Parts: sequence; structure tokens; C-alpha cells
Amino acid sequence: MEKQGFNPFAMAQAQFDNIADELGLDAATKDLLRNPMREYHFNIPIRMDDGTVKVFRGFRVQHNDARGPGKGGIRFHPQETIDTVRALSMWMTWKCAVVDIPLGGSKGGVVCDPHHLSMREQEQICRVWVRQLAKNVGPISDVPAPDVMTSAQHMLWMLDEFEAIHGSKLPGFITGKPVGMGGSLGRTEATGYGVIFTVREALKSLGIRPEDTTASVQGFGNVAQYAIRLYEQLGGKVKCVSCWDQEDQASYSFKKDDGIEFDKLLEITDRFGGIDKGKAKELGYEILGADAWLEQDVDILIPAALENQINAGNVDKIHRNVKIVAEGANGPTTPDADKVLEERKIFVIPDFLANAGGVTCSYFEQVQCNMNYFWEKDEVLGKLDLKMTSAFNSVMELSLKRKLFMRDAAYHIAIGRVAQACHDRGWV
Ligand code: NAD
Repeated sequence: MEKQGFNPFAMAQAQFDNIADELGLDAATKDLLRNPMREYHFNIPIRMDDGTVKVFRGFRVQHNDARGPGKGGIRFHPQETIDTVRALSMWMTWKCAVVDIPLGGSKGGVVCDPHHLSMREQEQICRVWVRQLAKNVGPISDVPAPDVMTSAQHMLWMLDEFEAIHGSKLPGFITGKPVGMGGSLGRTEATGYGVIFTVREALKSLGIRPEDTTASVQGFGNVAQYAIRLYEQLGGKVKCVSCWDQEDQASYSFKKDDGIEFDKLLEITDRFGGIDKGKAKELGYEILGADAWLEQDVDILIPAALENQINAGNVDKIHRNVKIVAEGANGPTTPDADKVLEERKIFVIPDFLANAGGVTCSYFEQVQCNMNYFWEKDEVLGKLDLKMTSAFNSVMELSLKRKLFMRDAAYHIAIGRVAQACHDRGWV
């Protein structure tokens, strides 16, 4: 969410402007791509359980659909802002383009706090969100998905409303549905595993064996947990993880030099990815401050919590032995910190490449729904590995050929593909 002095859309536009100039895009193409194609802002009036009516604010931003239907999640968050949604919709466009799936970029949100809403009230918000947008979203125009504080259940309510309005079964309208109700096996693992598929390829290119490496991870939620699981299967050792402590309203790092014991740590973690400090201490973890995760003497850093985490204020604390930063989270590194990473020749696997496993698997979910034939988990994860590896290799190749920082190489490919689609369609 937007922090004081940090505007994610301004950051997304600044990143775009830099590359647009390097690519020599003409003024009209720049103008088209630095702003969303369409935005919907609407009211969501809900009769609450106590009989009163409360009006929530809803958004859908469709950044670009030149390469295919828009794709992007819907966040429920009390501090949701239109600029956060705009930035995320733009990043979705680049993410789908860099992994070369036939989808564009969108994002949605509702300003609300699910902690203080009953399930009935949340269901109503989902249904009215769809009613407000029924003509503007759909399986061949714009496909929503879960995001912060929305789940498979929310997606099913939205699908049910959409199908009721259209009088047909249209499971390709939304992804992230429960398995057995049109959802795909492997979606839970997809983002975290995708991060590690790219880390594996990065290590290969640096000539380092995964079993000789150590890592430190910010976050211990969905992305972090599956990234850690696969990284450990490859033989790597995680020495430190961090998470948000709801009680203290602060974040802490949990360090064990011999390596964390993943399953035991999971047992003392709540469903929001919060680790019990007291129990962790009993298990022998050193409990350190918020930034300690990035100060560790490790080979790989994986920020997998939220945006704006590696910034001018802490980038210099990154240990000199760090070789790779794999961005599991969206927008974890600010542009000024990015410059420092580039100067230090740290291999950055940029967010919209590293965490594209989630949207790639959502695309597979749509494909399976359209065929009405569902794949085994191994098949899904095998196809995911192929897609992520091929995307990584294309970015790496360009980065070496043109001596570009990995983030810039990924942007060159993604923005180039989207600009080309806009030209080919005759838009600019
Ligand atoms: P999650 O809610 O499951 O987990 C978030 C984790 O971050 C939790 O462990 C939480 O305690 C921790 N955290 C929150 N604030 C923190 C702070 N200030 N310091 C340290 N830790 C903190 O979320 P997730 O699904 O794992 O998503 C993590 C990031 O990855 C987000 O940026 C999200 O947008 C991005 N992402 C997720 C997916 C996906 O499929 N889940 C896909 C693409 C990108």
C-alpha cells in the first residue's frame, strides 16, 4: 500500500520512462503506455449485518490489453489507493509480456478491511463489485484473480455472480478458484517455485551450485514458504527469515546460522505468515530487528513480503557477499537502491520476472477451464518451469548481449513486446 512520500504509480512511470527513452519509443506510444487504457471507479453499497448501509469504494484499472485480455488480482485493503492499483496494473502488463503469455495487465481493489467484515458482508462486496463491472470484465476481456486479503472463496462468489448475470457457465472469467471448482493444481506453489526456478538459472549462469549457497528471506507467507521449500530441495540453506508481528506492529528477523528448520518453523506460524516470537526463541532462533534479514552474510536475498523494502536507507547494509537479489514481492526495491545494487554488480532478478509464476499458472488455469480438462500437478509445475526458464534465458541473453542490468533487460523485452502489439494493431 502507499506509504508516506512513496507513490508506486510514480515509481512505475519513472521505470517506464527510462526504458521508453532507451527504446526510442515515439511520443504517442509513450503516452499510451505510461497511463492506463481504462479505469473504473465505483461505489459498492452494502447492507451490513446490523441493518445499516455502508458504501465502499471499488476500482478496476485496465492498463493495456494489446496482447490479450487484461489479467490481475483484486485487493481488499483499508489503505488501498488508485495509484497502487494503477502501478500494479502496469506491472501486470510487463509481467505477462516478459513471460510471453497472451494476456494484458489489469488490477482491481476495494477500500475495505476484511478483518472487520463478516463473511456475508464480504460476499456482498464481491457480488456488487461484479455487478458494477459485468459489462467491462470477462473471460475474453479482463480476467480477475485473488490478491491481498482475497481468496479462492471470494473468487467463487464473483464467478457465481458473473455467471448468474450472463446466464451461462463461464469459469474462464476468473482464476484462483478452489481446486475442484475450476482451480488449477500447483497454483499455491506457483509463485514461490517460480522465484526459485529463476534463482536456479541465475546460479547456473554464475557457475555456482545451489548446494553451496545460503539465503535470507524477507516474509514467511505464501511466496516465501514455497520459495524456501524448493530452494532447500535444491540443496540451499536458508539462514534467516523475517515477518510482520501483528501484536507489536513491527517486523522481526529470525536467524539460525545452521539453517532454519522449515517444517518446525511452519508449525509456529499463523495463516498470515506471522511467526510466534516466543516459540521461535525456544527453538533456538536469534530474534533480530526489521532489517537484519538483509544484513546477513549469505549469497542470495529474497525479499518476499511487500514493496519499498530495499531503499536508500538500508541498501548499504547489504552484506558484501550477496550475489543475487531475487524479488519475490512486487516493487521491493526503490529506484535509488536499485542503482546501488547495479553499481555493486549484484545480480537482480526483477520482480515482474521472478514472481511471474503466479500469473503464468493462472493462465494455465484459464486454459484448463477453456478445455474443461485439468492437468496433474506435476504437469502444471513442469510447464511452469519451462515457461519461467525460457523467460529468464531471454532476459539473461539480452542482458549479456547489450550489457544491460537484468531489470532493464526484462523491461526492454516486455515494453518492446507490448509496444509492438500496439503498433501492429494500428493503435499508434
Ligand atoms: P502473504 O500475505 O502470504 O505473506 C506476506 C508475508 O510478509 C508474511 O509473512 C508477513 O508477515 C510478511 N510481512 C509483511 N509486512 C512485513 C514487513 N514490514 N517486514 C517483514 N515481513 C513482512 O503474501 P504473499 O502472497 O506471500 O505475497 C508476498 C509478496 O509477493 C507481495 O508483494 C505480493 O504482491 C507478491 N506476489 C504474490 C503472488 C502470489 O501468488 N501470492 C504473486 C506475485 C507477487
